Amino acid sequence: MSTLEIKDLHVAVDTEDGPKEILTGVTLTIRDGETHAIMGPNGSGKSTLAYSIAGHPKYTVTGGTVTLDGADVLGMTVDERARAGLFLAMQYPVEVPGVSVANFLRTAKTAVDGEAPKLRTWVKDVNAALSRTGLDPAFSQRNVNEGFSGGEKKRHEIAQLELLDPKVAVLDETDSGLDIDALKVVAEGVNRFKAAGDKGVLLITHYTRILRYITPDYVHVFVAGRIAEEGGPELAEQLEAEGYDKYVKATL
Ligand code: ADP
Ligand code: MG
Repeated sequence: MSTLEIKDLHVAVDTEDGPKEILTGVTLTIRDGETHAIMGPNGSGKSTLAYSIAGHPKYTVTGGTVTLDGADVLGMTVDERARAGLFLAMQYPVEVPGVSVANFLRTAKTAVDGEAPKLRTWVKDVNAALSRTGLDPAFSQRNVNEGFSGGEKKRHEIAQLELLDPKVAVLDETDSGLDIDALKVVAEGVNRFKAAGDKGVLLITHYTRILRYITPDYVHVFVAGRIAEEGGPELAEQLEAEGYDKYVKATL
């Protein structure tokens, strides 16, 4: 059982001209077993929401709360958030020069579990997770995200998701820049994760395409730093047909 609860979240980003408010009161509850899609136009603050949950230092929470099973997420370090059961896949994953995928995954798993995984089963688990996302075992010797194609980055994230097995996964634009094969692999990975039945998923996306493969329970339309409309999967169909215009105009 796990619940991620975001209440009236206000966030400002540090810019050269001083802090700029981006999130203007986001309220959202993700219970276990639920998949929520956040959809919205470019620049509406979707990634800012993901970064704020992740604890990125550039984003300052100026109001509201984020809790996981009642525990104050905003008061946690980035490592503590992972240990508490949060997984965050960012729209633009960073390169980690000199660190192999194998070492990166082992370090992450150790941080989450509080102890190092047993070496023999771990290597098997890593290879299995990589191959399920269509990556060769040799991929584990590459440096993290260095020269990875868009598809490889996202496949690697899904392998991470499987190995770390969090309670709640926040996936920011996991579908962006993917060809149809990679999109299906990524969607299958998320669906395998969901199949456990008690996982929460927050799927942030600009396009409705991935929602053909991952069915959300709830769809939220994000405009100007807050949720402008909420509904079921049918709302995604409506957005596909009508776009975001009507919601954007309403905020002007
Ligand atoms: P989305 O993911 O919905 O496209 P973002 O959260 O990336 O939106 O951005 C929301 C707004 O915040 C945009 O206007 C963007 O320019 C601004 N913003 C986000 N991060 C920064 C930053 N580090 N510095 C300056 N502006 C930022
Ligand atoms: Mg974004």
